[in-house]
Amino acid sequence: METDSDVTVVGAGPVGLVLAAELALAGATVQVLERRAEPDQAMKAQGITVPTAVTLDRRGLLPAAEQVQREALERMSSPAGDGRAAGSRLTGHFAGMVLDADLVDWSDPDLAAYATAGGTRIVPQPRLEALLAEHVARLGVPVHRGVEVTALDDTGDGVVVGTTAGGVRTGWLAGCDGGHSTVRRLAGIAFPGTDPELTGYQAVADIADPRKLTEGWVWSSRGTYRYGPQPGRLVTLDFDTSFADRSAPVTLEEVQASLRRVSGTDVTLTALRATPTRWSDNTRQAAAYRSGRVLLAGDAAHVHPPFGGQGLNLGVGDAMNLGWKLGAVVAGWASEELLDTYETERRPVGAWVLDWTRAQIGILRGDAKSAALRAVVADLLATRDGTTYAVKQTLGVTHRTDLPGEHPLTGRLVPDLRLADGSRPADHSHDGGFLLLDRTPDGTFARIATAWTGRVHSVTDEPATPAGVLVRPDGVVAWATDTADPAGLDAALHRWAGAPAHSPAA
Ligand SMILES: Cc1cc2nc3c(=O)[nH]c(=O)nc-3n(C[C@H](O)[C@H](O)[C@H](O)COP(=O)(O)OP(=O)(O)OC[C@H]3O[C@@H](n4cnc5c(N)ncnc54)[C@H](O)[C@@H]3O)c2cc1C
Repeated sequence: METDSDVTVVGAGPVGLVLAAELALAGATVQVLERRAEPDQAMKAQGITVPTAVTLDRRGLLPAAEQVQREALERMSSPAGDGRAAGSRLTGHFAGMVLDADLVDWSDPDLAAYATAGGTRIVPQPRLEALLAEHVARLGVPVHRGVEVTALDDTGDGVVVGTTAGGVRTGWLAGCDGGHSTVRRLAGIAFPGTDPELTGYQAVADIADPRKLTEGWVWSSRGTYRYGPQPGRLVTLDFDTSFADRSAPVTLEEVQASLRRVSGTDVTLTALRATPTRWSDNTRQAAAYRSGRVLLAGDAAHVHPPFGGQGLNLGVGDAMNLGWKLGAVVAGWASEELLDTYETERRPVGAWVLDWTRAQIGILRGDAKSAALRAVVADLLATRDGTTYAVKQTLGVTHRTDLPGEHPLTGRLVPDLRLADGSRPADHSHDGGFLLLDRTPDGTFARIATAWTGRVHSVTDEPATPAGVLVRPDGVVAWATDTADPAGLDAALHRWAGAPAHSPAA
């Protein structure tokens, strides 16, 4: 392990890897400590939503993710379940109600804004983690496996970290160590929320008598299950929390018993084909995302059931938001006030995702009242507006960070603008810095930004609307205008990119 690295990230899950990469791009020295000797191959997230795809796009990783998706689509034998057949638009579901891609208004500006990233969804978590591990390795970040963090002491000017491989000192400690976060517990951060009332399983199994099951989502008074779209793929959701040990490996008997209960059949599983997962609807958010020199991101900061497929994406958003800010504090060009905006900006998104999943559990309980409510929601989702609304929420394209500025792009994830040379903002964002798009006839905006050279990279383009866009390293638009008037640009640069390092060009 490195002694005296600027930041130590605990956990080499998707969030820890993205955070480590962003810190490295920001110039910080960083190491990752991971207790697992080998990467986790368990079936967790199957897909990514638009903000994660935008993130991959902006770091040059989208082509590799698209290749993973192509391979996944080829393996799918049937379109059953959620409209994920090859060639169709990928949407998802709400409480098991498939969001009909053909009903969605894809010309809706929120959806149309992300044409490139919007095309990617199916990237199983182990494949995403492998892709991110390669990215981190290219950036020279060491990942120390088989090292479990067991203690921490925040000394005010750094953190002394106790691990199973000895002690190490670091400037900052980032807990990306999942829902049972040791870092969160050691930092004394409370984790309030709502208790679980169900047990879910995800597995791929050999089934002796698959005709006893119905493809797609099926509801019963005991819960719900989904069979497909890949051969043998099963999801069950069982309103029973009586299993003995949450940390014990999931057995074939356990998945079969759950499937039998919720399907009301005597279906028989003969083998499990991938490492299955068990989850609950334990739904909680950390009382604080930061305590002194300790920060939390991803599942360490919030947990909720995987319904709607948002957890990984939420965590990647945290990592993108935190990475450049902590990097700026470490580099010395930003004060800790910038770090405070991490929690103010990310807490509301986390709270929203928690409620989005709670709402789904609420209509799945299986009693007469939730069945009636589900019927009402099904009616709404059968409309163009209803499905478009749910798809926009599920794909994560509606969120707006509350930032100063009147332009409709401010606070949004940078859209997929086409520049005159055919490139897009994402193509100019691989290095992790700020991007200023200048479409004034005389380069007015770029001239102002020369005072921030090194932090802000300007790209000039033919005159077009929007005329100017300042994009933060996390992809959020900090300032935008439709005119050649630079009002507000200087303030936005000072606010987000710190004090200028140079004099502006004459
Ligand atoms: C069945 C299932 C389906 C899901 N489906 C989706 C989906 O479709 N879409 C979606 O977006 N999300 C989904 N999720 C959620 C997603 O898997 C998680 O949100 C995501 O893994 C969180 O990433 P993370 O990096 O924060 O934490 P994790 O992936 O949990 O990674 C934490 C890492 O920290 C390590 N660690 C823990 N403690 C220590 C310690 N003390 N010292 C060192 N290392 C430690 C762990 O070994 C682990 O590698 C699903 C989850 C499940 C269970």
